[in-house]
Amino acid sequence: MKFFLDLLPSEWDFFDSEPEYRRKQVAEWIFKKRVFSFSSMTNLSLDLRKKLAENYQVKTLELIHEKQSIDGTRKFLWQLYDGHAIETVLIPATGSRGSSERLTLCVSTQVGCALGCHFCASGLLGFKRNLSCGEIVEQVLLSESIVKQRVSHIVFMGMGEPLLNYDQLIKSIRLISSSWGIGISPRKITISTSGIAPRIRKLAFETLPFRLAVSLHATTDELRSKIMPINSKYPLSELIKSCEEFCSRRKQKITLEYILISGLNDRREDAERLARIATSLRAKVNLIPYNPIDRLAWKSPDQKEQLSFFRWLKNKAVQVSIRKERGRDIDGACGQLRLRSLFERSNEPKGMLGQGLGKPKESGEKEPSLR
Ligand code: SAH
Ligand code: SF4
Repeated sequence: MKFFLDLLPSEWDFFDSEPEYRRKQVAEWIFKKRVFSFSSMTNLSLDLRKKLAENYQVKTLELIHEKQSIDGTRKFLWQLYDGHAIETVLIPATGSRGSSERLTLCVSTQVGCALGCHFCASGLLGFKRNLSCGEIVEQVLLSESIVKQRVSHIVFMGMGEPLLNYDQLIKSIRLISSSWGIGISPRKITISTSGIAPRIRKLAFETLPFRLAVSLHATTDELRSKIMPINSKYPLSELIKSCEEFCSRRKQKITLEYILISGLNDRREDAERLARIATSLRAKVNLIPYNPIDRLAWKSPDQKEQLSFFRWLKNKAVQVSIRKERGRDIDGACGQLRLRSLFERSNEPKGMLGQGLGKPKESGEKEPSLR
């Protein structure tokens, strides 16, 4: 059985012998009407419906757990066809008049992550496998169906390092952004990366106008390598050079994400170095208060200290914002996918973190290569 959403319409080879409008009809059923069963696609011939149903499956994710925060953030835990589990977080932003102006979906690209950043729950999970394009796209389709609302923005800030699942990521952005697909403007889609420099350079050549956010989190190689092992492979100078290339080729600004961790990277000299990097790249800075992880002693600076750091940057004319903490009560903030719910559901020992629901299967895939 093949997964239908892993394919672009141009790859739907069943339709080669059909009139051209058939592809459009099927895309309409799936992406516009949200009908995922071929047998219900009543304007296709019975023969075609049967052939499609015998060979393809549209829906592969099963919702197994859901949590809702008092601030409206919702977290969905999905079981994949092979027993692994991933999370998607839906974050509404309330406008000044109380209306919901923005609905952001934080999407996963891998089961776990191979890069092991020391502050990150996904890193603690270790890497299991890449998600396929369809599994990425389905997170959007199914989340929208559950909340009966259209998502306005997508951020690839869930589990995993998107640039280590490059081809499936780009393919999923095509399905999410095209007018025959989900139809979310690529300008409202942000890829977040821990800094895989050669892939940032490759990304610069992509034609879709998505946005890029780079997780910086430290301004010296010494500290960055300590908390983000990937820095030993792609140190700051190389990362910054790849960002410069990205910005100049695409004539686009990037965002630097910077988690504030008390006593670690929140001093004045950190802010000054960060301001220098941001100014040279003409990048925006998004400060993220650290979301505590069970096993780690780190904590976020308090609000006063966060504000001081913010002001140090502002005084250097950096365009800076502080990310509002969302969904803390449901462990649901983007990038902080602790899968606490797995413990609650399965009573697995912590060593089983991320294997999901007590019936994992190893995919047999090797860790993704970095080049
Ligand atoms: N792998 C990519 C995208 C997923 S992580 C990346 O690293 O950018 C998305 C964001 O969440 C990153 O900026 C990451 O550093 C951040 N993040 C991870 N753990 C966090 C935590 N405990 N508190 C706050 N932000 C965290
Ligand atoms: Fe992976 Fe990003 Fe988490 Fe680092 S911060 S472990 S790259 S998901």
